[in-house]
Order: sequence, then C-alpha cells, then structure tokens
Amino acid sequence: MRLSRYEIRPDLCRACGACAKVCPKAAIDQDDERRFVIIQERCDGCGTCAGSCKLRAVVKRKGLFH
Ligand code: SF4
Ligand code: SF4
Repeated sequence: MRLSRYEIRPDLCRACGACAKVCPKAAIDQDDERRFVIIQERCDGCGTCAGSCKLRAVVKRKGLFH
C-alpha cells in the first residue's frame, strides 16, 4: 500500500515522451490511445519523470493506493 503515487495528467500532457525516456524502471508507456501513462506496478516513486516534464503534467497525488 502507498500513500501517494505519480500520475500523468492527460489534460496537460503533450506526449513528448521525455518522461518515458528518463524513467529508470521503464514504467511509462503509451496506452491504446497513444496517451502516456505510468504503469504503477513498475513505478518505485523516484520522481525523475516529474522533474523531466516541462509542462508539469506529471503530478504526485496523495491517497491510499493498493
Ligand atoms: S514529459 Fe510531460 S508532456 Fe512529455 S510525455 Fe511525459 S507527461 Fe507528457
Ligand atoms: S516516479 Fe520514477 S519509476 Fe515512477 S514513473 Fe516516474 S521516473 Fe519512473
């Protein structure tokens, strides 16, 4: 269980792919509609992707995540 997780806001993301390139866990991929998404099972919460996004589309969301 985690108390926060990183997510990509589809309303802000322009699909440049920068976050996917820097993710050390290869946890960012494109879904069937070509939107970039974080595969939560692979993500270790390092935050590197958030720092790479110039549009601040990668956000840390608080909550209870299983
Ligand atoms: S770096 Fe930002 S804009 Fe580019 S694909 Fe990732 S979330 Fe989207
Ligand atoms: S927080 Fe780290 S492991 Fe998770 S998607 Fe971003 S760069 Fe990858």
